[in-house]
Amino acid sequence: MRIVSSFSEARSAAMEAYHPSGGEEGPAPIGLVPTMGFLHEGHLSLISRARRECKVVTMSLYVNPRQFNVSSDFDRYPRSFERDCQLAAEAGVDILFAPSTSEMYESTESTAIHPGRVARIMEGTRRPGHLEGVALVVTKLLAGLGAQRTYFGRKDAQQLTMIRRMARDLRFPIEIVGCPTIRESDGLALSSRNTLMSANERETALDISRGLWAAALAAEGGELSAEDLRRAVTADRDRVGWEYVELADQEDASLLDTLDRPSFLAAAAWVGDVRLIDNVFFDMGSDGLAVDRGILLEGPSLLYR
Ligand code: AMP
Repeated sequence: MRIVSSFSEARSAAMEAYHPSGGEEGPAPIGLVPTMGFLHEGHLSLISRARRECKVVTMSLYVNPRQFNVSSDFDRYPRSFERDCQLAAEAGVDILFAPSTSEMYESTESTAIHPGRVARIMEGTRRPGHLEGVALVVTKLLAGLGAQRTYFGRKDAQQLTMIRRMARDLRFPIEIVGCPTIRESDGLALSSRNTLMSANERETALDISRGLWAAALAAEGGELSAEDLRRAVTADRDRVGWEYVELADQEDASLLDTLDRPSFLAAAAWVGDVRLIDNVFFDMGSDGLAVDRGILLEGPSLLYR
């Protein structure tokens, strides 16, 4: 008998007992990519990373009503099941999990997830209940689908931080992998909501990524004050309705005054009646600050195909 004192030791001991010959190296058996569908290259980048790293790739497709704080936003969220099935199959998904709402939620259930501090700022205050809704559905997927690794986009930076924190706090034996933001060729971060904008609104929306990139350039030039970085985002860009611009700690999403650790500069803004979020990540490499602005597509997104 081996006596172990940590969750991870207990798990690896169980694995060794399961594979007595040992040495079962190689890709994680099951990788999970949670989505709300209407797939674009951002989702496909998560799938292809999971495909490279895992033996089996499961994608979930569920437009989660509990994470929409405004019901009209839920009603008009773009959906196209056939299109998503085709794109997922082409991208190499093995299992597409598309539950009904009664499969996801029982009318008698009573458990809630409270993500705590990490959900009381930015998206947490602007979209009451949104992050709690995400936390509950992600917990169900992590607990129920048996994945060892799960893939999330940096595009939803506070959500990623919350999920990492939650998986750590609740001791889920699952690795959370954060992946770069994929952008349209002019810089607009890919979002299913981009399809809800007119051509003019889309052009206006570029203020968001341009503002963040201006701030990223300032940071690379040595600007460390959060206030000045935030000002660099919004200065002379008043066509969009800024809701917030904040510098936040990657570890717990707490707001920072100074760029002195791994962090992200996050913005939410309205373009007409469409609300968009975007960010740039500040990572600390051995050579100092490394800005992750995401990855630009070379041609038009499949969102418009
Ligand atoms: P959604 O379908 O919007 O709930 O997103 C599903 C997953 O895709 C989440 O982990 C998002 O962060 C991620 N995602 C959405 N848009 C992008 C993007 N432009 N680049 C990278 N990941 C993204």
